[in-house]
Parts: sequence; structure tokens; C-alpha cells
Amino acid sequence: MHYYSTNDHGLRVELKEAILRSLPADNGLYMPVELPKMPEGFWDNYRELDFQEIGYQVAMAFFGEDVADEALRDIVKGTLEFDAPLVEIAQQDHILELFHGPTLAFKDFGARFMARLMAWLTRHEDQMLTVLVATSGDTGGAVASAFQGVEGTRVVILYPKGKVSGLQEKQLTVIGGNITALEVNGSFDDCQTLVKSAFLDRKLSEDLNLTSANSINLSRLVPQSFYYIHAARQLPEGILPTFVVPSGNFGNLTAGLLAMKLGLPVEQFVAATNINDVIPAYLDSGEYKPRPSVATISNAMDVGAPSNFVRLKELFGDSFEDLRDHISGLAFDDAQTRAAIREVKETTGYTIDPHGAVGWLAAKSWRQAKPDSTTITLETAHPAKFLDVMDEELGKGSVEIPERLAVLADKEKVATPLGTDTTAFHQWLRDELV
Ligand SMILES: *Cc1c(COP(=O)(O)O)cnc(C)c1O
Repeated sequence: MHYYSTNDHGLRVELKEAILRSLPADNGLYMPVELPKMPEGFWDNYRELDFQEIGYQVAMAFFGEDVADEALRDIVKGTLEFDAPLVEIAQQDHILELFHGPTLAFKDFGARFMARLMAWLTRHEDQMLTVLVATSGDTGGAVASAFQGVEGTRVVILYPKGKVSGLQEKQLTVIGGNITALEVNGSFDDCQTLVKSAFLDRKLSEDLNLTSANSINLSRLVPQSFYYIHAARQLPEGILPTFVVPSGNFGNLTAGLLAMKLGLPVEQFVAATNINDVIPAYLDSGEYKPRPSVATISNAMDVGAPSNFVRLKELFGDSFEDLRDHISGLAFDDAQTRAAIREVKETTGYTIDPHGAVGWLAAKSWRQAKPDSTTITLETAHPAKFLDVMDEELGKGSVEIPERLAVLADKEKVATPLGTDTTAFHQWLRDELV
């Protein structure tokens, strides 16, 4: 299969280039030249298949031409070592729990698949692959966990000192081995600038065999489409889901659309955002106006220029009408989100995190307008990742901390302090890694 750039439809690259380079040089995004089709009969009996088999079939449709059958099966098996259960919290009101992975957020699905695919694509190369990633929170942890112990790879994570939560920092800094954490005395933007500067230094980039693990990598999207299909099959026969997706960079929603384009029967997609409502505003007005993000309690969705917007448009052949027929947008502020956390608890007993709560509000509003609809709200992270807010709304101790998060508290942080000077950073990379 070949991949083109959204900025240059004539450009054609192979899978390896699209995955290891992540971004075309023209700053577009990679898309498959042709959307794959599921094999004959798949949609007649997908309800009988398990999560692994669904994942394998979808991965085959996208990557089967380029990746050996058995390898792809192993990649999917290694990715899906945990489930994505669907929980009915009230009539027609379902929650898809995507937080059962090692770092308790849906980003585990994409990061684990990407790590395994990258390792396979470089399996015959002697040179170590160096993954460089800047993180403001969840991505770094998912990437660190996904690449931990993966042969032929090492990961360097840059994070802003004092600007990630204590547990998030532990997720980056206690693994060791092939994972190195750099604690940057600066902002997230400084971290991103440092990462970019390393890629721009061609010699350094080649010497280190650098690759990036950012969220626009196509190999992070495809595995996220697995759980839309897996969720739909858990509904009673004949019921079409409306998927409600708490969104920031819109990778998750794009993955849902991929599942629909593959043939999954869906009633509608609802994009739920916090007050960073660039996409809901676009769906209203037809005008796309990116702007600086504003901090909220659903911070993983604080995005002012969603990086997958171009892919959304591309999937509908640039037709605004068509896009709006399939995606609706709703936005909610922090006060509404906090009230929703309490309301969900009081009316259903379910404990929902701030990101899921934004989604749940959109789902509720959708069902009020369309009483026959059945919604599936994606719960993108475990509430234990946002203890401050949960304690404030539901009382101290209301959220049980999963063992895999709790054990981090006692482990020792190992991080190398770093300034924001690019020369010093490049020197560190050379001294430590070349
Ligand atoms: C990353 C993230 C999101 C946003 O997902 P996108 O794919 O960027 O839209 C939502 N919730 C949580 C918890 C996240 O970590």
C-alpha cells in the first residue's frame, strides 16, 4: 500500500517511510492512497469475532500487503493484552472503557501497536532506532511503556519540569533500561522545539536513526479503530451506535471514521470538546479558526489547532456537507464537566473522569434531541489519573487507585536535567547515544 501527503496528492511513499518518518517533509499528513476494504463476509459475522480477531482483520486490511501475516498477528496480540469493555450505565447510555492498558489511557492502544510495528519494520537493521518524543502528560507515559524492552529501540522523552502531574512524571522516569527521561527546565513548547531541532540536524538525525512517536503517526490511528468495531458488536443486534468522542487532536475520532469507512454501521459521531471548541464551532459555521488553547480540567483535550483536522476533511473528500452529516459537535465548560461527574455518580453509580464527563454531557444532549438513539461514550482515561478533580467533586478517597499506578509512587525517579539550549541538547545526544 502507498501513502500520500495531504499537502501533495501526487507524493507516494511506502509504509516504512510513512511510519518511521511520521510526517512528510511538506508538513502534510500521510493518508493511504486507497482506503482498504474488509474481506468478503467480514461484516456479516463481525459480531461473532473477538477483539483480537477484529484487530487482526483490520490490521491485515491496512498493512497486510507490507507486513507478514504472522508478524501482524503477533503485533495485534501484543497490543491487545487488555480488553475494552462496554458498560451500560443507564438505558441507551453506554461507556466504552479504554483505560485498561498499562498507563490507564486509550493512548496505550496506539503506542503499543506503533512500537511493535516500528520494531518489525527495522528488524533487519543493525542501527538502533531512537524514538524522540516531547510530552505534556499522557503521550510520554504510553510511549515509554510501549517501547519498554523492545529490542533495537530506545526512547528519549523530554518533559517540562514541574508541569506534569506527579504520577505522570513517574510513568516516564521509573522505567529505566531503554527509556531515558530528560527533565527540561522550560515549557512543553520548549521541549517540542528541542525535539524538532534534533530532526532538523540531518547528520545527528541519521547518526541516531531518529524517529518520532507523535500522535499523527498513522500507525497510532489504525489500532484505535479496532475498539469501535469491538464496542458496536457488544450492543444488542440491530442497534446502531452513536459514538461520542471526547476530543483534542481528533485522532480518536478519525479512527472511528476509519472504522465507518471500512463498513461499520454507525448512526452518528459526536465530537465532544471542552471550551477549546474549534471543531464544534467549525461544524456550526463552516469556518475553521484555530486559536491558542486554554487550560481546563480535561487537559488532554486542551488543543487549539487539532492536528488531525486535515485528515477529517480528507476522509470526506473535502465536502463540508458530507462531513457535517456524519459528525456533530458539542462543547462544555469546566463547571458543566464538574457537575456531570457528580450527576453520573448520583444517578448511575458510575465514576467518570473529566474527559469522559465531557463526552457524557454530549451524549445526554444528543439523546435528548434523538430519544431513540443509543450512545457509546468513549471513556478515554481512568479517573485515578485526575485525583484532584475527582476528590473535589466526589470526596476524598472516592476513586480507587489501580495497582499499576499505585506501585509507581514508591519507585525512584531517574531523570537527567536539561536546559533549553539546542546545542547542549545535541551534545548530550551525541555523548550519550552515538
Ligand atoms: C489524548 C487524550 C484525549 C484526546 O484524544 P485525541 O485523539 O487527541 O482527540 C482525550 N482524553 C484523554 C484522556 C487523552 O489522553
